[in-house]
Amino acid sequence: MSWYRQHPRVLPWKSTKDPYIIWLSEIILQQTRVAQGTPYFLAFTKAFPSVHDLANAPQDEVMRLWEGLGYYSRARNLHTAAKYISRELDGVFPDTYQTILKLKGVGPYTAAAIASFAYDLPHAVVDGNVYRVLSRYFGIETPIDTSTGKKTFAELADQILDREDPASYNQAIMNFGSMQCVPKNPDCGKCPLQSACRAFEMQKVTQLPIKSKKIKRKDRYFYFLLCFNEAGEIAINRRGAGDIWQGLYQFPLFELEQAMNLEDIVETLKLPKELEVLSISKTYKQILTHQTIYARFIEVEQKQKSPEILSSDAVWKLPSALVDIAFPKVVNRFIEDRFDAAGYSPGLF
Ligand code: SF4
Repeated sequence: MSWYRQHPRVLPWKSTKDPYIIWLSEIILQQTRVAQGTPYFLAFTKAFPSVHDLANAPQDEVMRLWEGLGYYSRARNLHTAAKYISRELDGVFPDTYQTILKLKGVGPYTAAAIASFAYDLPHAVVDGNVYRVLSRYFGIETPIDTSTGKKTFAELADQILDREDPASYNQAIMNFGSMQCVPKNPDCGKCPLQSACRAFEMQKVTQLPIKSKKIKRKDRYFYFLLCFNEAGEIAINRRGAGDIWQGLYQFPLFELEQAMNLEDIVETLKLPKELEVLSISKTYKQILTHQTIYARFIEVEQKQKSPEILSSDAVWKLPSALVDIAFPKVVNRFIEDRFDAAGYSPGLF
């Protein structure tokens, strides 16, 4: 706490006790760095100053503002929870840990953060920073990603919580983890906790915290069809449930088991003769938590109306309209390369 008073961090959501604003910031910052999340926080609070504004917004508008932040289920859950608070609770934000935890998309960490920051309730937050500080300071070698580890750290965090001022305490330990006890090469020489730090004493700073599982990523090969009609419009469709990027738009997609050259792709996909293949883009790569996406874009021209290969939910948009539509990041990167600011520059490849 004394270190925190000397190292305050001024952030736009730290000067408020408004649970709606605190909730927005916590959801936006999950799995996101502060520098990346801040512009999104400012855009959301500007577009939706109250929970009713967010609840009444069309889903497309919410997704569009979220675009580029990843983990899109967070945006959908945020919208669902806003509708619940606005319509079922008359806009009154829940004010206990248990009722906050019931909100869609809110887990124990976020519930503890909102309960302590907005209502000064004695709930300890345990995020990645807290795991790191506690495992190092107390020299705990239990893996943090096991149920035993989660229980051990949650109990410890609760024991050492400052019940008089849980909001400052929670903020202090998280800031300490993000600024002093950082993941790589912390400057232990300057650390006020060094004399009692078990990891420092045992020379295990770089080994702690311990994780049991390493993430295995699956490779996926996406081939998007950039299909123009005679009016110069492009077919897009909306992604459904059960896979990444639910609710975002895309060009009609074909997924293949492995990377292929254009000839093999045309053969494998059995593209109908109504579609003339013009070109194929370079590979665009996007790394997600559990998968790596390799995306290429095949440009085709539609010689006759509606070949079956385009699903019935395809809608046609002029290139200049694409800027207002929420696409996955990898598709946006392609769009930026392919179309100029005016929306359309043919034959760019
Ligand atoms: S001494 Fe090093 S490892 Fe221990 S708490 Fe301080 S920064 Fe973290």
